[in-house]
Amino acid sequence: MQNNRSKQQVNEEIEITAKFRRNELLAQARREPKAQPDIVPFVRFGAKTDLGNVRENNEDKFDFFEPTEPTLLAERGCVYAVCDGMGGHSAGQIASELALKAFLKAYYNLDLPDIDTALTVAVQAANALVREIAQAIPGRRGMGTTLTAAVLCEGDAHVVHVGDSRCYLVRGEHIEQITDDHSYVMEQVRQGLLTPEEAQYSPYRNVITRSIGMDAVEPDIYRVPLQAGDRLVLCTDGLTTHVSDERVAEVVRSHSPSAAAQRLVEMALEEGGSDNVTVVVVQVLELLTWDKAQQIGWV
Ligand code: MN
Repeated sequence: MQNNRSKQQVNEEIEITAKFRRNELLAQARREPKAQPDIVPFVRFGAKTDLGNVRENNEDKFDFFEPTEPTLLAERGCVYAVCDGMGGHSAGQIASELALKAFLKAYYNLDLPDIDTALTVAVQAANALVREIAQAIPGRRGMGTTLTAAVLCEGDAHVVHVGDSRCYLVRGEHIEQITDDHSYVMEQVRQGLLTPEEAQYSPYRNVITRSIGMDAVEPDIYRVPLQAGDRLVLCTDGLTTHVSDERVAEVVRSHSPSAAAQRLVEMALEEGGSDNVTVVVVQVLELLTWDKAQQIGWV
């Protein structure tokens, strides 16, 4: 009875937020969806996830969706995503799985006017579902997950981000961390209260300040105009705890995406493998016109 009541309460909260937001968005001028994209990123990608050396469950998860339908490709593009779940008794595994599923489903709803709005709504949908499950089932309170995803559409990457997983851009000799960690220690670093070195060894380094499932969530969204040769790396903290940015860049530059994902996971394991580790690498070989993409059979 108690559970039913709290579940209903949660549903009411979600309904109000979702309805309000949705009507507001639908009221915006709706344009005709494009028949096909003007530009298609021609990509290779590779991914690898591993339990690590000490954990009993793998609560990390990755997923991707590459639509074949030209309108979906033009309006939503391809999505690559990682999640790092948390919460005891396999709750983290459930959270990352549910969040990714809900996120992808909501994101590909073409009623939403543009990519960045769709990303925000999709994160909120994932958040609502994880919260609902967490509050409905005793013992799953506190379950949550990070979510970091890159959308490749036309000539841009749109990156949506909650938590302390990361997205990097490797371009030529440079590596840039696109996302800011939503962690207690990195917020202290950004405010100048801790050095990056102190943050790395702080006992609070695993405390995250934004996650899917914990509260009303506002994702960060970034847009990166793509260039041929760019590589995007999505990864969980199981990689970045053990492997420096410079080494990530070096491996990604000198390997194919799937070999790089494998190698980076191995390196994290060799350095201790203290956590689950997940790496997704997307390499943009070329930015093709629609005609060219059809000619070579890419679309
Ligand atoms: Mn982790």
